[in-house]
Amino acid sequence: MKVKEKHVITPIPQCYYCGQDKDRRSRGKKINVARAILDHSPCKDCAEMMETGVLLIEVSKGSTAEVPIWKNQQVAVTAEFVEDAFDTKVAKKILDVKFAFIDGDGWDLLGLPREGDE
Ligand SMILES: [Zn+2]
Repeated sequence: MKVKEKHVITPIPQCYYCGQDKDRRSRGKKINVARAILDHSPCKDCAEMMETGVLLIEVSKGSTAEVPIWKNQQVAVTAEFVEDAFDTKVAKKILDVKFAFIDGDGWDLLGLPREGDE
């Protein structure tokens, strides 16, 4: 299939992990072009969280590793937290990749904070 030239767009890259625009300047702005996940490299915020710990991201039910449905909640936890919270196999997997998508029930079970919480 050929794309008509007038339909060629330059999408704004989104972060695979948190869903935010990788370029902070366009975050939250309504923009008349597409946003797209172009790769699995983290935005600066997520990269910083992965450097200091393991990034946990809350997603909606129905999310998959390929198609996360973000809920704008994320937190960096320690390796010890991951080892305590998950069974050994899962913990090892999470520690390898330094992140995990967690649904809301799991988020509550783990007692993870949400933005706006005290
Ligand atoms: Zn991010």
